[in-house]
Amino acid sequence: VTFPAAELEKLGVLGHGNGGTVYKVQHKRTSKLYALKVVHGDGDQTVYRQVLRERDILRKTDSPYIVRCYETYEKPSGDVALLMEYMDAGTLDTLLHNRGTFSEPELAHITRQILKGLSYLHAHKIIHRDLKPSNLLVNKNMEVKIADFGVSKIMSRTLDPCNSYVGTCAYMSPERFDPNAYGGNYDGFLGDIWSLGLTLMELHLGHFPFLPPGQRPDWATLMCAICFGDPPTLPSGASDEFRSFLDCCLQKESSKRWSASRLLDHPFLVKYYQGTDSC
Ligand code: ATP
Ligand code: MG
Repeated sequence: VTFPAAELEKLGVLGHGNGGTVYKVQHKRTSKLYALKVVHGDGDQTVYRQVLRERDILRKTDSPYIVRCYETYEKPSGDVALLMEYMDAGTLDTLLHNRGTFSEPELAHITRQILKGLSYLHAHKIIHRDLKPSNLLVNKNMEVKIADFGVSKIMSRTLDPCNSYVGTCAYMSPERFDPNAYGGNYDGFLGDIWSLGLTLMELHLGHFPFLPPGQRPDWATLMCAICFGDPPTLPSGASDEFRSFLDCCLQKESSKRWSASRLLDHPFLVKYYQGTDSC
């Protein structure tokens, strides 16, 4: 599906990121809906570099668990736009706020899809580095797809500690703050597993796990809680399998965390598995 940008009509704004805007657009001839992420070339250079990186990564990926990018548009002025599949139920963040917390069977269904996306990315040497509820898109069929690759990284063959401050620091793993203390055998991919653990806990609790409900995170408090505190735990009532799953994600020492492909066989997912999908 490729066509010129002139054949698209803007219907509204789906979201503002830092620097870019995502529009709901319609292809006039076919009436098909898409999401169009637009970043202006004359704006912030960091934002511009991020959209180019996102473009490069989305061009390489082909998975039902990663948001699809069908076309990219570039103007001589430097403006860049990415034409993506439209996810009609928003993000896990908006779903959480609109309909409340998720049950364990719902979370298992969500988790399986995120893990399939992550194991695809990691097998292709891509680290997402900004996994969080607002970067996980959902459609009405409860299909979940990973989006927003602005700060992702493609690992090169050379050893790269990759501990720079990118992404939303709230979901950042301890070794990203302090590689010497928590990064024994650091490979970067396991940082995404930490972020997954925090994301799932937030979807279950209804608020960000390291902070009481309603408190806005400030950087220093968070960093202290993540690096010096114990990992958050689930309230009573959670199943042993869910507790164990989060324990496998939220190990402060990165080398103790399970990989995405190993987590796919965890008893928490086996317990609630109902589907028949093969890939
Ligand atoms: P942020 O800095 O807030 O993470 P960003 O500039 O990196 O944002 P995205 O996260 O890619 O941009 O998109 C911003 C918002 O636009 C998302 O949180 C979501 O609400 C909406 N959005 C993005 N892509 C889609 C899509 N394919 N379908 C539907 N909505 C989308
Ligand atoms: Mg985002």
